[in-house]
Amino acid sequence: MKKIVVFCGSSLGFNPVYKNAAIELGNAFVEKGITLIYGGGKIGMMGILADTILQKGGNVIGVIPQFLEKEEVVNPNVTELIVTKTMSDRKIMMSKMTDGYISLPGGFGTMDELFEGLTLHQLHIEDKPNGLLNINHYFDHTLHQLEVMVREGFLKDKNRDLLLVDTQAEGLLQKMFFYEAPEKSHIINKVVKHDH
Ligand code: AMP
Repeated sequence: MKKIVVFCGSSLGFNPVYKNAAIELGNAFVEKGITLIYGGGKIGMMGILADTILQKGGNVIGVIPQFLEKEEVVNPNVTELIVTKTMSDRKIMMSKMTDGYISLPGGFGTMDELFEGLTLHQLHIEDKPNGLLNINHYFDHTLHQLEVMVREGFLKDKNRDLLLVDTQAEGLLQKMFFYEAPEKSHIINKVVKHDH
């Protein structure tokens, strides 16, 4: 696993625990020689994560759509900046380059990216590990929602298990390194059978 996309907030959150988690993940990337691929911003969690890696001599690839490439948003220090036409092009570009995905706390943008990664995996368009760093119980409700989806027959438990979860960067990276995607037949048979 040489390159990992990280999705995370363009905000920092109120509790410093989130910023510290971004720093911890950045340090783990440098230690393990992993290149960060991310949204290219200098703000919020994105900025802290990228700057932590850059300050320690690590590699950071920013992939940003044209309309966001403004001075107040874009991180000018990244190792490589790729500017795409649209948000969709950005996702395709990231997906082509990466070996896996990690989501940290964030808002709509992060949740959209997290679930798109899982959907691609569910449909077997990709078989890369999707990791979630559950800092400070931030994603407890999201994980509970997944249980509701399984319970109510909208999500197979095998597909719920496509999401790797840990509260620590180190633990999550270990799960991603050793991840083996399920057999295709398990995934494409994703229609939940009803009893009646
Ligand atoms: P959010 O979680 O709503 O703050 O959105 C963060 C996610 O959406 C990031 O992972 C980015 O890929 C993308 N994004 C949102 N805002 C920006 C921004 N100002 N610059 C770069 N990417 C952004």
